[in-house]
Amino acid sequence: VAWQAVGQQLAAFDVARAYALQRSQFGRPVAASQLVQEQLTRMIGNASASLSLMVQMARLQESGRLRMEHAALAKATCTLRMRETVALGRSILGGNGISTDFEMAKIFADAEAIYSYEGTYEVNALIVGRAVTGISAF
Ligand SMILES: Cc1cc2nc3c(=O)[nH]c(=O)nc-3n(C[C@H](O)[C@H](O)[C@H](O)COP(=O)(O)OP(=O)(O)OC[C@H]3O[C@@H](n4cnc5c(N)ncnc54)[C@H](O)[C@@H]3O)c2cc1C
Repeated sequence: VAWQAVGQQLAAFDVARAYALQRSQFGRPVAASQLVQEQLTRMIGNASASLSLMVQMARLQESGRLRMEHAALAKATCTLRMRETVALGRSILGGNGISTDFEMAKIFADAEAIYSYEGTYEVNALIVGRAVTGISAF
């Protein structure tokens, strides 16, 4: 499921970048705006950080050292980053970000399901919290 969060972020980045390059406002593409460029940077930064975390998880799994706490950390962290990434993508599409005529709305809605299923963000965070403190909060 954490890998799904990586894919969602990469998809959101692709859709938002393509839209920002073709959508023209005030006589130039919205991709020329400094704020939009900062948002795209944050999106690809989140996606890259999530991808790097998942590569490390794959290494742990390959060596037989992956524990449930690692999986919970990956799921919680990647889906939290994903939520910010898809929200930025939705914002870059403006009103079209919530229209079903554009792919971003589907990416945005799917991200909400990924955030909650297979263990909500909160419960995965508590599994990690128990591992790092030795105290169960649930
Ligand atoms: C699209 C989709 C597909 C799904 N597919 C499946 C499936 O195939 N099989 C299946 O079995 N389930 C499936 N689910 C169910 C999913 O796993 C649950 O929705 C999820 O585990 C949360 O359970 P809940 O909805 O009962 O929320 P609740 O347990 O009622 O939680 C509500 C809120 O309270 C928080 N919360 C609960 N307990 C604590 C606590 N102790 N401390 C802090 N916060 C807490 C939760 O994080 C959440 O924010 C699916 C859900 C969705 C949205």
